[in-house]
Amino acid sequence: MKFGNGLEVVDSRIWSSYLERYLEDIHFVIIHHAATGWWVKPEDIRRYHSVELGWPDIGYHFLVYQDGTIYYVGGMETARAHTYNWNYEGVGVCLVGNFDDHWPDPRQLQSTRMLIANIQWSLGWFLPITGHSDMRENRSTHCPGLTFSEWRLQIDPRS
Ligand SMILES: [Zn+2]
Repeated sequence: MKFGNGLEVVDSRIWSSYLERYLEDIHFVIIHHAATGWWVKPEDIRRYHSVELGWPDIGYHFLVYQDGTIYYVGGMETARAHTYNWNYEGVGVCLVGNFDDHWPDPRQLQSTRMLIANIQWSLGWFLPITGHSDMRENRSTHCPGLTFSEWRLQIDPRS
């Protein structure tokens, strides 16, 4: 499907009982990594969150893969489960892989940058880009990986 200003994404949304929210309340793009191998499939992450953790569905809104493929896994009109105390205001974008000791693939960075531009285009206002661990009360996590500060500008559509 096309998302935003014509960006191609794989629509993998399913109905869930996550709380609905007003799009106007979205104020941050919050970047995550899956802290897994690059090969972990969307349905595996969905199963882990919903079956093993017992959440209403996958906790993120978007997944971005090493080859640049983007999955739209959770509607932006729902407040999901990715950042403690910030879920109502955040869009959760997860780069699949573990970036504690290496950067995401250039295709993954480029797709993330285009995705963020399209999220902002579809909402119609600017959203700061933050890492999960940048958010208050979330400092104890490594997410989105220890190398995040080295590549964060590469996913910023303004840079
Ligand atoms: Zn995270």
